[in-house]
Amino acid sequence: MFKRTAVLVVSCGALLTACGTDADPRLENEEIISNLIEAGYPADSIMVVEGAVYVERDAQVSLEASREMLQRGEGSAEQYRTNNLVDTTIVKKICINPTSAFNTYSRLSQGLDLAIQNYNSLGLSFVMARGPTTGCNANITAQATSGAGGSAGFPSGGRPYGTITIGTGLQSYSVDANEHMITHELGHTIGFRHTDFFNAASCGGNEGSAGVGAILIPGTPTSDPSSLMNSCFRATATGEFSQYDIVALNYLY
Ligand SMILES: [Zn+2]
Repeated sequence: MFKRTAVLVVSCGALLTACGTDADPRLENEEIISNLIEAGYPADSIMVVEGAVYVERDAQVSLEASREMLQRGEGSAEQYRTNNLVDTTIVKKICINPTSAFNTYSRLSQGLDLAIQNYNSLGLSFVMARGPTTGCNANITAQATSGAGGSAGFPSGGRPYGTITIGTGLQSYSVDANEHMITHELGHTIGFRHTDFFNAASCGGNEGSAGVGAILIPGTPTSDPSSLMNSCFRATATGEFSQYDIVALNYLY
């Protein structure tokens, strides 16, 4: 088992400590953090890494996305999630565009193809395609970084988050592990949170903070050890969605 994020390793400060010297991003981050706490995220699940705000270890939150999290239509927990989904009346084709550096890692590249197939095999209200290609309503750049982790972000404005970042250390793992990581990060870009968000049980269950605004998709259990959207995963991951991941995807899209 290994932690999902390499970004933590390069963390330059604790909560509310920005890395940059420019005052404006710092104020922006303070608003993002304030919005996240108001939206129900435990303070200890929020971190600032290289000037950007992350929750759940690997999901970056923009100012716009954090504001949308507060736009709860009827005060229900589900509504919170709904506001951070992709609007499939606009976005019917999501193109994932690997950088040339990403493409030099064969297992990352294979993992991307398999991750796209994972989504497309479900007949959802959008399709994914590997770029460069045409007819894209939204684009996600797949870039490489050091380490064996991954990171992404949540949708805003009805569009998926625009970047997934995958550690080149995954080249040493199986294609299935690469498929798992990339499918997981793409899951964040379309609005998925961690299945074990409030206790990170897949990472050892040492975070506590259970019961604060947990958002459950109807038809799914409160925990799912097989979920591809757990915080951490084993190197023996299959790269395939769990039964309840599929329920959740079909419910949302
Ligand atoms: Zn994640």
